[in-house]
Parts: sequence; C-alpha cells; structure tokens
Amino acid sequence: MPKLALITGATRGIGSAISQSLHLSGYSVAANYWGDEDTAQRFHQETNIPIFEFDVSHFDQVQQGISAIQSTMGPIDILINNAGITRDSTLHKMTAMDWYEVIQTNLTGCFNTSRACIANMRSQKFGRIINISSINAQAGQYGQTNYSAAKSGLQGLTKSLALESARYNITVNTIAPGYIDTDMVRAIPEEILSNIINAIPVGRLGKPEDIVRAVEFLIAEEASFITGSTLSVNGGQQMY
Ligand code: NDP
Repeated sequence: MPKLALITGATRGIGSAISQSLHLSGYSVAANYWGDEDTAQRFHQETNIPIFEFDVSHFDQVQQGISAIQSTMGPIDILINNAGITRDSTLHKMTAMDWYEVIQTNLTGCFNTSRACIANMRSQKFGRIINISSINAQAGQYGQTNYSAAKSGLQGLTKSLALESARYNITVNTIAPGYIDTDMVRAIPEEILSNIINAIPVGRLGKPEDIVRAVEFLIAEEASFITGSTLSVNGGQQMY
C-alpha cells in the first residue's frame, strides 16, 4: 500500500509542487486548500489528486476534514504543514486581526492538523510530520513580528512533538525556506525583491522544487534517525 501524505495549502505554490512530486513518486496524496476554489479545481483536473477544503486555523473543520480523508483514503502516514499566510506591517501599526490570523493559520493550524493525525500515527508506529517554517523565523524580518513569531513557534512545536513521538517511529522536522518564487513572494514590491535577490549568495530566488527535495529526503523511511531538526533551504542567505 502506498503511504498517504496530506499536504496543507496544496493547490498553489510550494504545496502544489510537493503534492505533484509525491504523487509522481507513487505516494497517495490528499491536497488541502482553503478559499481559492478555482485554483483548487484546476489543480485537481490537471493532476487527478483529490482535494479537500478546510481551514487549518479552525479546530473543528480540521477534525472533520481529516476524518473525511481517512474514511475515503485510509490513515495518514505523512503530514506536511505547509499552509501559511502573511499580513505584514510594523508592530506599531499592526492590527489585532493581522496578529491573530497569522498565528492561527501558521502556528495553530499545525497544532490542529497534528492533533488530528497523531493518534493514528502512534498506533501504526509510523509517521512523518514536516512543518514549513521560514528563514524569517531564524533571522527575524522587519514588518513581520506576527509571521516570525508564528514560524519560530513552529520550531519549538516541532522539537517538543519530536520528543513525544520518537519512540513511535514518528519523526517531526522543520524546513526553513528562504525566498521561493511563489505568489507570496511575487506580492513583494519589485524594488524590495531585487534587494532580496542581491542578498542571496546563489544569485536567484528558490524554486518550489528546491523545497520538494528537502521534503522527499525527510519523509523517506530511511530518514528515521532525523527528528527535531530544522533544514534550511535558502541559497546560503542565512547559515545556521
Ligand atoms: P502561497 O501563498 O503561494 O500559498 C499558500 C497556500 O496556503 C495556498 O494554497 C492557500 O490556500 C493555503 N492556505 C492559506 N490559508 C489557509 C488556511 N487557513 N487553511 C488551509 N490552507 C490555507 O504560499 P507559498 O507556497 O509561497 O508558501 C507555502 C509555505 O511556505 C507557507 O507556510 C509560507 O509561509 C512558507 N514559506 C514561503 C516562502 C516563500 O518565499 N514563498 C519562504 C518561507 C516560507 P488557497 O489556495 O485556497 O488560498
């Protein structure tokens, strides 16, 4: 039986690349999205990967969404917490809603999905959880106190859950991407983006496929000794 991977925020950007690559590699894939129905339907028609709409920030919706996946596709073996949003502004101008939405989606979303999957992973004595963090968790970023806090929080969550899960053959790791060419980065004003690219030693933005490589490495059965770690994929922009 192929292993079943749930990828959140899977029908665009990095999540779409991860989903398509795992599908081509023979994994069974469930693709989550929230809100962008047209893109999700197009993704489904082009890839034939089943799509599941639920808001990762909402505990009850996640429970229902993951129950629906498990009843139609079987137990989830691999969870990629990729869904994320930004609501950038300096803290002195940030609204409570900008803070709350970013924490709820990027950090609480990971709790919600992990909470819904972990019991099955423990009983089947196998699991792979990858949390997509960010270079801006590690280095901080002007205008992103909410996002940096959420993405740093993911790193703490990863390490604690890795400790709790290790004896069940469940690994929990974080990937910290640098700047990757997706809608999220295309929203950055051109002048700022060109300064960012100048600061990347390899001289280019990352591609979603650069993150896919790291995911495929960490979900392999042979990667069972790698847990609680953060893998930076950032073209040398920050070296930790
Ligand atoms: P995109 O903005 O291209 O895509 C974000 C995805 O997340 C979409 O599929 C969106 O769904 C989904 N999503 C947003 N909110 C929710 C929600 N509440 N519930 C379920 N799904 C949701 O982002 P990227 O592909 O660029 O980023 C993917 C991840 O990588 C994010 O966590 C991001 O923070 C992180 N990252 C990205 C970097 C980059 O440079 N691009 C750098 C570092 C980290 P829908 O399509 O339905 O709107």
